[in-house]
Amino acid sequence: MSLYLKYRPHDFDNLEGQDFIKTTLKQAIKDNKTVWAYLFCWPRWTWKTSTARIFAKTINCENSKEWNPCLTCWICTDFLDDRLIDIIEIDAASHTWVDNIRDIIEKAQFSPTRTKYKVYIVDEVHMLSKWAFNALLKILEEPPKHVKFILATTEVDKVPETILSRCQRYDFKQGTPENIKNRLTYIAKHENIHIDQQSLDYIIRNSRWWFRNAISLFEQLIVDSKIDFETIVKTLWLTNTDLIENFLNKLISKDKSIVDDFENILESWKNIKLFFKDLIFFARDLMIKKLKQWENINNLIDIVDKLSDTYSKTKNSLDENTVFLVWIVKIVSSYIQPQNNTIHTEEKIETKQVFYTTPEVKVEKITQTQETSFKATQNNTPNDDLLSDASDIFGWWEEEIESFPKTTSENTTSTSFNKDTLVAELKKIWAKAATTMSLRWADFLINWNSLTIKFKTNFALKTINNNESITLIQEGLKNIWREDLKIELR
Ligand SMILES: [Zn+2]
Repeated sequence: MSLYLKYRPHDFDNLEGQDFIKTTLKQAIKDNKTVWAYLFCWPRWTWKTSTARIFAKTINCENSKEWNPCLTCWICTDFLDDRLIDIIEIDAASHTWVDNIRDIIEKAQFSPTRTKYKVYIVDEVHMLSKWAFNALLKILEEPPKHVKFILATTEVDKVPETILSRCQRYDFKQGTPENIKNRLTYIAKHENIHIDQQSLDYIIRNSRWWFRNAISLFEQLIVDSKIDFETIVKTLWLTNTDLIENFLNKLISKDKSIVDDFENILESWKNIKLFFKDLIFFARDLMIKKLKQWENINNLIDIVDKLSDTYSKTKNSLDENTVFLVWIVKIVSSYIQPQNNTIHTEEKIETKQVFYTTPEVKVEKITQTQETSFKATQNNTPNDDLLSDASDIFGWWEEEIESFPKTTSENTTSTSFNKDTLVAELKKIWAKAATTMSLRWADFLINWNSLTIKFKTNFALKTINNNESITLIQEGLKNIWREDLKIELR
C-alpha cells in the first residue's frame, strides 16, 4: 500500500489542513445539528473522501471521543474492514455504478440495518446521469431522518442548481507549506525514516503544496530508511542551494559575470529547466520571506515574474538555452535603465529647488513657470530646452491641480506635487515597500512649509502613521527640497 493511502487521515485530529471544515463539522456533531446533505467541493487530493468517511464514522460510532470516531468499536472496525453496509460509497465516475446507482439511491428510504445513520458518500457527484440526479433530488426534497448524503466533486459547476441548493457546502483547500511539513514529519516519525531539513524543504517546494504529491515524492526518495539531500542532489541532478543563491545574487546585483556562470551550468547540468525551476522556487520563497520582514523586494518581484514567463516560453521554443540566456541578459541590462532614469529625476529635482529657495519668491516664481509651462504646451514649440524642461517638471501639475481641491484660505497658496518623485526618493533611502505603496493611495497638498497627505484608505493611513515612516518621509522630502516640511496625515 502506498504511503499516501496508508496515511490517509482516519479521524478529525489527523486531518491536516482544512481547519475550518474540521471545526465546523465537529461542532455540528457536538450540537446535534448535522444536516442531511453536504457538498464537499474543489481540488483533488485534499482528503475530501477521507473527511466524508471520518464524518460518517463519527456520527455512527458507539463511543466517539471528543467528537472523533473511536476507531475501535465494531462500527469503526467494520467500516475500516469494508464490512459496514450502511455506509455506502459510490464513485459516480466509475462505470460499474452507472446501471444500478438509481436503485441504490432509491433504497435510501429504508432504515439502516445496524447503524444509527445510513450514509451515502458519492464521489465525483457531477458525473451522475440525469436519471440518477433525479432520484437523488427526490430523496433530498424529503429526506428520511436516518439518511445523510455527502457529495464530493472537483467540478461543482456541473452539479445541478437544484441539488446545490439543498446541500451545505464546504470548499476544501490545498495544504499550506506548514500543513505539508506536519504531515511529512508525522509519517517520517511513524515509518522510522530519517529526513534532513533540506530534503524536507525540497519536497515541500516541489509538491506545490499538494499532500499527494508530497507524500509520493517522499516515498520515492527513501533510500535505506532515510532521505538525505546529498543523495537527492546526486540522483536527481539537482542544483545545490549555494549555487542558486549565488546566481540569484548576481542577477540582483546585475553582475555581468553571470553569463559565464550560465555557461558553466550548461556544461555541468543535464537539465537546464530543472535549474531554472529551482531558481524560481528559491526566489519566490526568498521574496515571501523578505516581504514578511518588510524588506525591499522590487528586484525579486521582477525576477520571479519574468522568469516564470520565460519558463513557459521554453515549451514552444527550438532552443531553451537561448531563451534563458536572453532572459538573463535582459534582466541584467534592465537594471541599468532605471539608474539612468534616476539621474534624470535628480536633474529635475535640482531645477525645482530653485523655485523653493525662499518662501517670499515662491508664489511668483511658481506662477511664472506654470504660465510658461502652459504656454509651451499650447504653442507646441518645445524647442527651448529650458521651456521643455519646465513643461516636463510641471506636467503633473496640470493634472493634479484639477483633481485635488485647493484650500479656500486666502493666506495660503496650495498645490499638490509629484508623488513619484517622493516615492523614488524614499526607495533610495530604503523605505519599506508598504510605505511607498501606501503613498500611492494618497493625495498630497503643500501649503508653504507643511505637507498634507490625504489617504484614500484607512489601511494606507495606518501603515504610514508611525514614527519610523514619518521620519523617513521627512528625510525624503528634505532630500528633495532641502528644507523641513511639517507633515500632516489625514
Ligand atoms: Zn467507534
